[in-house]
Amino acid sequence: MRVAVGLVLCMLMACIPAASAQFDPEHLYAWPGDPVDSHVHLTWAALTLDVNNWADDYPEIVDLTSAGESELGKTLWVVRLSDWSMETKANGSAKETIYIDGGHHGNEYLGTALAYLTAKWYINAWSEGNEEAIAVLQNTELHILIMLNPDGNDIDTRWNINQVDLNRNYDHYWNTCPTTQPGSSAFSESETASNSAYMNAYATDADLYVTMHTGVWIMLYPWGKWPEQPPDWELFWRIRDDVQANVSEIPIQNANQGLYPNCGTSRDYGYGVMGFPTFTFETDDEQFVPGSFENLNERLAEEMDVMRFLINNVWYWRARLDVQAITVSDDALELEVVNHGRASTTNASLEYHDVAGEVLWASPYFTVNSSNMTSVSFEVDDDVFETKGMWNLNYQKRVINASTWVNESVDGNLTVFIDDEDDRFLSGVGLFNPVAVILGIIGVGALFRNEEEAIEETLNHG
Ligand SMILES: [Zn+2]
Repeated sequence: MRVAVGLVLCMLMACIPAASAQFDPEHLYAWPGDPVDSHVHLTWAALTLDVNNWADDYPEIVDLTSAGESELGKTLWVVRLSDWSMETKANGSAKETIYIDGGHHGNEYLGTALAYLTAKWYINAWSEGNEEAIAVLQNTELHILIMLNPDGNDIDTRWNINQVDLNRNYDHYWNTCPTTQPGSSAFSESETASNSAYMNAYATDADLYVTMHTGVWIMLYPWGKWPEQPPDWELFWRIRDDVQANVSEIPIQNANQGLYPNCGTSRDYGYGVMGFPTFTFETDDEQFVPGSFENLNERLAEEMDVMRFLINNVWYWRARLDVQAITVSDDALELEVVNHGRASTTNASLEYHDVAGEVLWASPYFTVNSSNMTSVSFEVDDDVFETKGMWNLNYQKRVINASTWVNESVDGNLTVFIDDEDDRFLSGVGLFNPVAVILGIIGVGALFRNEEEAIEETLNHG
């Protein structure tokens, strides 16, 4: 059947001029704006028409929704892109989630344009059969709120209609830096309240958040509040090095030092409260002059390359622990674990629980650095494992406290029991031989706490 369809397609394609049958990136980037003053202006009305057309034309991949309304009642459209015929990836695992917003500041058109073009690139490329776009949408959900400040956008101003700087209005150390117009309280504005509510409802597990602005050509990672590097500096530095080696020489810095101290930003909120790896993507401030806006494609091509890199590789922007072996002898448990991700994790623990879910043993917390193989060993009395049970691995996806917890079962076949007395190996079913002994556990090595605390913590977070 598939062959037959392919043949029909080939026959049809033969009748079509070659150029239109191929992927043509040149026509992906129509910008529906009108020149206003010296800018090209994407009005909220034009955006509304576009996103609704996308949803009508491509229901297979476009799920249009709203995060709420602006202060003046304009819908805050969120374009959700994925291959909606697949609830999960082909292998059954959950798709990665990416959150993107643009247009916090209503006079920063290129930031809004980059959010718009990101959505449009995937829609058009998917419809043209582009393999990269197809793969991304099969494995990823992209949630893109293109224009967060439509009231300010439509009157060409940085602020929202209440003269508040929305990117100082988030509930992360709100109004603790020298700043102007942060609002009367954190989330006093419907735009920021809606944005955070959406993140908390639909994107809690996101492994990338990019918030798009215009100003200086730079990408900024947390913190804006502090000059110190963030807990996940290793992840941010690796992304920086990869981008600069392979994609673009765009500067990538801590926001506080790369720009200036700023508090209550969506970036610091996205990282510090939501636990996302977060970037502020600033295009430069050379806005369009009338007549040049058809070059938006070329104008933002390098920025789009960076976005595609971040999106294509989202699988790596967290810790991904993979147990290789668990070896239990009379008095020690040795765990070998690989981290396939680019983020470190500091709160990993291995636990053993019975079929009812009761935790019989939990290791102290241990650290696994990014892209690293770690071997940790704990003192045990090998009595605990007499009950038929299962292993679980708990850890946080990143170092930042706010990052989500992962609780994964571990394949029991990876366990080997060694009887030190006679060097017998018991494995597989032998694992749960009632003769096997198990008792208390005393942490060693990377141990920071005692067993009871470890178990409590594990239960609290599991
Ligand atoms: Zn801005």
